[in-house]
Amino acid sequence: MPPFEAGQAVPAAGRVVVRGACPHDCPDTCALLVTVDAGRVTRVAGDPDHPTTHGALCTKVSRYAERTYSAERLLQPMRRAGPKGSGRFEPISWDAALDEVAARLTAIAARDPQRILPYSYAGTMGLVQGESMSARFFNRLGAAQLDRTICSSAGKTGLAHTLGGSVGMDVERFADSKLIILWGTNSITSNLHFWTFAQRASRQGARLIAIDPHRTATAERCHQHIALLPGTDAALALGLVASLARQGLLDDEYIRAYTVGFEALLERARPWTPDRVAGVCGIDAAVIDALARDFGTIAPAAIRLNYGMQRVRGGANAARLIAGLPALVGAWRHPAGGMLLTSNGDFAIDWRSLQRPELAPPLPAGSRRRMINMSTIGDALLEADPPVEALVVYNSNPVAVAPDSSRVIQGFAREDLFTVVLEHFRTDTADHADILLPATTQLEHLDIHASYGHRYWVMNQPAIGPMGEALPNSEIFRRLARRMGFQEPCFDDSDLMLAAQALDTRGRSTPVALRRTDAPLDEQGARELLAPLLEKGWLKLDVPQAPFAEGGFPTSSGKVEFFSSQLAAAGEDPLPDYLPPYESVASNPELAAKYPLAMISPPARNFLNSTFVNVASLRAPEKEQQVHLNPADALARGICAGTMVTVFNDRGSFQARAVVSDAARPGVVMVPGVWWHKHSPGGRNVNMVTHQRLTDLGRGPSFYDCLVEIEVR
Ligand code: SF4
Repeated sequence: MPPFEAGQAVPAAGRVVVRGACPHDCPDTCALLVTVDAGRVTRVAGDPDHPTTHGALCTKVSRYAERTYSAERLLQPMRRAGPKGSGRFEPISWDAALDEVAARLTAIAARDPQRILPYSYAGTMGLVQGESMSARFFNRLGAAQLDRTICSSAGKTGLAHTLGGSVGMDVERFADSKLIILWGTNSITSNLHFWTFAQRASRQGARLIAIDPHRTATAERCHQHIALLPGTDAALALGLVASLARQGLLDDEYIRAYTVGFEALLERARPWTPDRVAGVCGIDAAVIDALARDFGTIAPAAIRLNYGMQRVRGGANAARLIAGLPALVGAWRHPAGGMLLTSNGDFAIDWRSLQRPELAPPLPAGSRRRMINMSTIGDALLEADPPVEALVVYNSNPVAVAPDSSRVIQGFAREDLFTVVLEHFRTDTADHADILLPATTQLEHLDIHASYGHRYWVMNQPAIGPMGEALPNSEIFRRLARRMGFQEPCFDDSDLMLAAQALDTRGRSTPVALRRTDAPLDEQGARELLAPLLEKGWLKLDVPQAPFAEGGFPTSSGKVEFFSSQLAAAGEDPLPDYLPPYESVASNPELAAKYPLAMISPPARNFLNSTFVNVASLRAPEKEQQVHLNPADALARGICAGTMVTVFNDRGSFQARAVVSDAARPGVVMVPGVWWHKHSPGGRNVNMVTHQRLTDLGRGPSFYDCLVEIEVR
């Protein structure tokens, strides 16, 4: 059987409904039902039987057919035919494209393979079209490694040092919670299916409290909104620790049995009086004790934390503190209590089988493959020594989404940089390619998905064959591997084999139907192993309800670690703390005098990171790049609603239409993103003003730690 078989089983006549999975960077990982009439997708809907999708998709993905059949799709390989970044290309054959890529990479690798860098992220969350064949390819090549930090690494690191990994509550249990704190999450935009459970809880009398610098659509619908200043979440969490203790609301028994370092944490938290917290967070002092009282007296209490709050200097410490709160009140005792940032750690994934790190050529003793942080790609392309000579971008649009765009664009514009981009569309990044390769969408290829918001494996089967000459990422790297003479049999593995290899079939959480203990997989074995998933589309992990009711956290102590010996051994502060933002009045008063507005840039409702910006029907409701500011800030600058303004700081500027509303708190502006540069007024998006400084732990970007000024010009 040939390794590439996407679409081959789909009938060209009649109606079929194919089971799929949403591939996008969203915690919901919806189970899809794709209707195909005579070989053409006519409907993309949510699976009504899937317990978290419950038949509903967000607007973005319910229009997936429009995106797939867009006249703007890249349907054949292209070679650059103009200056870098001009977006001028000429069509070439696959043979010519792969020959050229293979020749260029081979020549560079002969000098030093670590001058070649892959750049990818969550353009698809699928394990097959994400980091499988591509990872094998770059491992075999001995290329530089990419530190994939751009979204969640600070929060995940904080969680790992507190709970032991990316674990938390089952999202379905939030329906039974009596108090839900939505901390740094605009769920209606970026976690819609969680919101359904929160609403169900609300209808049963639960109290919903939003903590977010901006009054989002979600905050608007909660019973209470606490609009703290960006980057001050850790201060609020320390205030809650102190207040819970002061008010006698701690679950002493749970703390004693299942936590480490509580006394030290309390000592650190005690100076955080309500007045001090209020001053740092810019909120009313009375809010702190009241919030602690709710959290300590309403059970079960649950926190849905999201990644926005960790995109600041102290993001990992903030995540540590917030992740520790449920243990203080014994919330983990209840299935509907605890917290959830990500559920990804519940999935048993066999990364070694999927990515084959042993393929890497040996290095001289004592040396390691170099690692380049994707969040500082601008600096890396301009300053790395030895230089990055080739960049292969897939599942990502760094020219639009990476911080400090001027530097990123300057790096991508280097004439001596050979850039290959695998894409669906002519993104800002694609415009900078030397060779542009057309990739299939989720409707055209096979994949398997874990989730970071629920506990189901979800299978994606191709609903149609590839559009034009597009190929799955897996197949592009498979063909490239052959071109470069890589003989290892793993480069012949089919997508189905890759999907089967992704499953750790001995994993404790692996659904019983997918467990297996016998011999190596062949094609037939892969099909048999995956049969239950192929048939049903999804299967729930075998994870107990209230898994931490009696400790059992995946830390080395098995307890919640307020004090981390691991951090202490690494020379870091073993206790979580509040670290002021890089850019704030408190940390940099001179800068704040020049640029007094704190800017955050969360996802626009109709976009997902930079995906969907080119879909006309989704761009229309977003209108154009906007900046939301408070009436007092607008008045002080002579800005009226609808005025085109310039947002700027020392790093750069962009234009946006002013939306004047008290949903923005004074001193904080919100820019929904991420627009492509070329779809933004003046060709510049919000990342012209963000910076490349990294978070406290996890080496993440600090997008929401950014001071700006606004004027009419
Ligand atoms: S983007 Fe999220 S909510 Fe929308 S279909 Fe995909 S997983 Fe579901």
